[in-house]
Amino acid sequence: MSKIHLLIDGKEVEAEEGMTILDAARRLDIHIPTLCHHPELTPYGACRICVVEIEAGGRKALGAACVRPVDQDMIVKTRTAQIDEIRKILVEQFLAHAPDAEVLTELAREYGADKDRFEKQSSFCILCGLCVRYCTEVRKKNAIGFYDRGATREIRFIPEIAAEACRECKACFHLCPTSYLQAAYHLTEAIGFPPPSPCKEQKPQEL
Ligand code: SF4
Repeated sequence: MSKIHLLIDGKEVEAEEGMTILDAARRLDIHIPTLCHHPELTPYGACRICVVEIEAGGRKALGAACVRPVDQDMIVKTRTAQIDEIRKILVEQFLAHAPDAEVLTELAREYGADKDRFEKQSSFCILCGLCVRYCTEVRKKNAIGFYDRGATREIRFIPEIAAEACRECKACFHLCPTSYLQAAYHLTEAIGFPPPSPCKEQKPQEL
């Protein structure tokens, strides 16, 4: 496998082809925040909190470090005023959904985010997809999926599957960056109060 050399925050790192910027930065012990990333899952790039500045082929752009593969002679900056501002706004948006989430409170401190900037929409879910993807990719149960799009998008357990698969599992709970309460709530609701219409007819949307 060919080696790739790049600079991250002024430090040279040797990486393998196909490696992401996030993994290359971790090789240098450079911290890039993530919310939707998990080492056992396919990179997803949903939360965008891992945004970095990337200079490659004479062009500068912003990109998600968790999905962007490294390139030869790439120059990456993980903290600039622009990056910090983007992360601050993202955290403020997430805090509108989950104002008490510990991981978001820490990020708010780091980036100076105001937890009251956006109107509260306490869904307690930032739609990172960790629970959905872990259930699909690792547990291979498909007991939880995304429903709807836009403002009404949410996660939902599928009662018929969850009643069997989730009682002993609950592996997704501890992955949730906004606390496991949202997943727990939906699971309880799905098992305890299944909707009147047969859920077999409801199919989770593609990720
Ligand atoms: S319940 Fe938690 S893990 Fe699942 S999508 Fe929402 S924030 Fe992510």
